[in-house]
Amino acid sequence: MKVSYPSVQSFYKREVQAEKEPAADASPVKVGDGFTEEELSDALDPLSRKWNPEREYEEMSIVQLIPGPRAVTFVGRIVNLTTFFGDTPKQPKAAGFHSLIAKDDSGAISIKLYFARDQYPLKLGQLLSFWTVFISDTSKIGSSTVSAVTVCANMFPGRVTSDHIMIHTTGSTDGICHTPLEYKKGQPLPGLMTLDTWLKGGHDGVTGAKILVCVKSLGGRKTIRRKDGAESDLADVGLFDHTGEVPMTLWNSQIDSCKDWQPGTTILLLSSPGYKVQFSGKGSVGILHQTMIDVEPDFPDADWLRKYAAGLMKKESLNVVWPEGVWDVEAAEYGVVRMLFTLAELDRWVRSDGNQTFTGMINVTIMEMSLVSLHRRNMLMCAECCGVPIYSNALTIPCRNCSTPLALSLNPRIIGTLLDETGSIAPGKLLWSTRAWEMLFGRNVEEITAMTGEEVRSFEQRVCWLRCHLVVGWAEEVGRLGVLGVLM
Ligand SMILES: [Zn+2]
Repeated sequence: MKVSYPSVQSFYKREVQAEKEPAADASPVKVGDGFTEEELSDALDPLSRKWNPEREYEEMSIVQLIPGPRAVTFVGRIVNLTTFFGDTPKQPKAAGFHSLIAKDDSGAISIKLYFARDQYPLKLGQLLSFWTVFISDTSKIGSSTVSAVTVCANMFPGRVTSDHIMIHTTGSTDGICHTPLEYKKGQPLPGLMTLDTWLKGGHDGVTGAKILVCVKSLGGRKTIRRKDGAESDLADVGLFDHTGEVPMTLWNSQIDSCKDWQPGTTILLLSSPGYKVQFSGKGSVGILHQTMIDVEPDFPDADWLRKYAAGLMKKESLNVVWPEGVWDVEAAEYGVVRMLFTLAELDRWVRSDGNQTFTGMINVTIMEMSLVSLHRRNMLMCAECCGVPIYSNALTIPCRNCSTPLALSLNPRIIGTLLDETGSIAPGKLLWSTRAWEMLFGRNVEEITAMTGEEVRSFEQRVCWLRCHLVVGWAEEVGRLGVLGVLM
């Protein structure tokens, strides 16, 4: 062990002990420091303070910013965000800072944004306005590895009176600052590659590599304990394009960003993403210091992926939500015109004239049932939320990610292959109405979920190899054959 010698400073007591007190306790009544309530709240909550600057700030785009002293204002969207807590030697009054990259359509700037007490409610993709009087050159600091970012700024709104930021939350600013950097109309975006190419080697040594992905799923927040004993939160976001899938890990303050993302809808453009190998040996995306994430980028490739994703999600989703009011159940079952289709006829009918809405009957044998196995695996009921399928034997369950209470429907995979003389229907392809389930089981859904293992087994044995009439309906907007009723 090293012998520690007393330093010169240790012989002198610190004069101003009050400075080390946390800002939260700095009540003006107690300390009597001469500040008014308003001044104090302005310093602690700079977002809500009145901003009437005495000097004039020149409005600029980010690419126009030149290192040096100058009062400037600019807007940009957050494309990278990390938050640090604790004392910083440069700003002893700060409780921490956000390290972020903001970008507009012209360029990007790296910003260190200090906060006195509470962190700012920042999210990736948010539009911010900045006012500051000094722009620095990242190459002089020598810390920058972000090639696209040549300027930076240190800001402490509330403490430094010439600094201010504003978070735009109104819809009127939705359309601006969405064009990717380096994008030129009619030309492919430099460095853009498919997920498959990136995973198979494009991540290695290609500077400025970009991947364009759609959010597939949002994982729940997990807490892990690091080696040094501190706790960290993380959440995995599933991403995909037309060539592959990859998970991306968000840490701590980044997790809030994904709360607004919609599986199957939200498009992200990742510039210089980090490549990490998971325990499984598969690749994953990490957010590095130089990574830029454009949320909902505006260029033709993004439009294409958005359309592709919408089609794919429709095809792959569990699709258990019954469309109300599409078919006339009474007429289909008891009406004068009741068409009896073979599966081959039905297939031909839908393929040749699929935009019609019609109902009819099919007469099929239930070749197999998965009722017993799904019941045992606690997967009798299912629902979909945050892009993730959720299973349970219970009627309702909260989503693991967003905690929304979900009403579950019976799992369509309970019914295995259906067969007639002309064809078959694979498990899970039909969309069952609650009415049809209740007719098949002879009890309501609540009673079905309450069935014991013994009841489930004897019911499965009874229904297997049963030949029955299904009242079915087709509609183009549903895209699946719906089962309206069951006639034994
Ligand atoms: Zn959810």
